[in-house]
Amino acid sequence: MKYRSTRGQVSGQSFESVVLEGLASDGGLYIPEHLPQLPADWQTAWADLPFAELAAELITLFVGSDLTRAEVGQLTAKSYATFDTPQVTPLVSLDPSTGTHILELFHGPTFAFKDVALQFLGNLFEFFLERKNAMDPETHHKITVVGATSGDTGSAAIYGLRGKKNVSVFILHPEGRVSPIQEAQMTTVLDANVHNVSLVGTFDDCQDIVKQLFGRPAFKREHSLGAINSINWARILAQITYYFHAYFELLRQTGNPEARPVFVVPSGNFGDILAGFYAQSLGLPVARLAIATNGNDILDRFLQSGAYEKNAEQGVLATPSPAMDILVSSNFERFLWYLARDNETTAGAGAADEQASEVIRTWMDQLKTDGLFRVSAKALAAARQTFWSGRCSDEDTYKTIAKYYTRKDQPPYLLDPHTAVGVYVAEALHPKIEALEKERAAGPLHTICLSTAHPAKFSEAVLKAVNEDGTQLDFGAILPPPFVGLLEKPRRCLRCDNSADAVAQLIVENLSA
Ligand SMILES: *Cc1c(COP(=O)(O)O)cnc(C)c1O
Repeated sequence: MKYRSTRGQVSGQSFESVVLEGLASDGGLYIPEHLPQLPADWQTAWADLPFAELAAELITLFVGSDLTRAEVGQLTAKSYATFDTPQVTPLVSLDPSTGTHILELFHGPTFAFKDVALQFLGNLFEFFLERKNAMDPETHHKITVVGATSGDTGSAAIYGLRGKKNVSVFILHPEGRVSPIQEAQMTTVLDANVHNVSLVGTFDDCQDIVKQLFGRPAFKREHSLGAINSINWARILAQITYYFHAYFELLRQTGNPEARPVFVVPSGNFGDILAGFYAQSLGLPVARLAIATNGNDILDRFLQSGAYEKNAEQGVLATPSPAMDILVSSNFERFLWYLARDNETTAGAGAADEQASEVIRTWMDQLKTDGLFRVSAKALAAARQTFWSGRCSDEDTYKTIAKYYTRKDQPPYLLDPHTAVGVYVAEALHPKIEALEKERAAGPLHTICLSTAHPAKFSEAVLKAVNEDGTQLDFGAILPPPFVGLLEKPRRCLRCDNSADAVAQLIVENLSA
């Protein structure tokens, strides 16, 4: 199993190097050179595997000779033992009358779906570095993870990397601009290898500084900078598991082997739903993948028009679902590569891969210079065979939270604002789902909405939604135990000037300390 860059100038890379490097040196994203084959009997052999075992089976297909099945199994067992339920990602019914379910991805240590990938990535970093150091004791192999966060990524990364040997982590956040719970989640982690850095500025300033530091080759080499954002292939890979797990669970709960899922995914950088695309490409029988966006709707607009267009004038909108507030979706490039290969090339197999990368380079150049690019009608039609999409306004986000919490005909369910975006879009797509079910005439379609965060993480938006309806919500009653007293715990955070030089200096000082 080897990896290549979507931009075509790097190939033949091992899983280990791709995981440690993050972004390819040509600016592209790593993808497998070929997709592996599932075992012929996967439908039966994997049906009842516990989550960590299922993860090990899937991940082993992608690691080549870098890890044995037993090593992967140890890593996944350790990674998913930190979740608060043995099912890891439980599937619960939201509305039996429409066959709608919630796939709860928020049972990890920071109560966001990013834990599924980052718990694994932290263990993977540690494993690879310890092995390198054992094989080559002359050099001290280490990694310095530097990342920017508006909240969710930072806390999930910190919990994934805390206490890991040979790993240091620096997470930049804009002072006073992340939610109080998220700030507390990050800064109350006191492990020596974790450094929270706050600066007076915006999330974009933080992200910009991180980009500048990665753009300094000597600094990058000297400190072995590593990336934990969702462009890291290991994050996508780890997320494939819950699509398979949810499918098996759906068959178990319905007792119908012909039941098929439509997955609805609240999307920002396209990492979560991209794992669903890979699951489907491997052979998981997924009826459709639906992209749900908030007002930052570049993906929804693309599915409507075939134009991928930055809304540069408007900029990023601040919405009640901040983890999806993006201008462009960084992981979309991976899907675009497959779309280009299958629809925009003329060459036979093999050469088509190269042509696809040429197309990607052209598209990315156009996006940079003109702010948009357009795919062919054929490619757009193909994209629509895989993806549906929808958009949810801020107002509808609040209304959806209130609707499911105050409903009288069924037990209340409290949605976080990101999940509410997905549920709203699922409702809007319901007629299309019914039409597809009729057309298919081979068993029921069920809607599975991915829930990406626990509502307590976004208490402000949730309270606003529910209290507007006159309902009083006792937040204390739903607070997960680790959140109780969190705001009062001791914290450690370094303040820094808003400049790349200042952050670089701070990193050097803390690494040598
Ligand atoms: C990161 C995040 C998302 C968006 O996921 P992408 O992989 O960027 O599409 C949605 N909801 C929550 C709560 C998140 O933390």
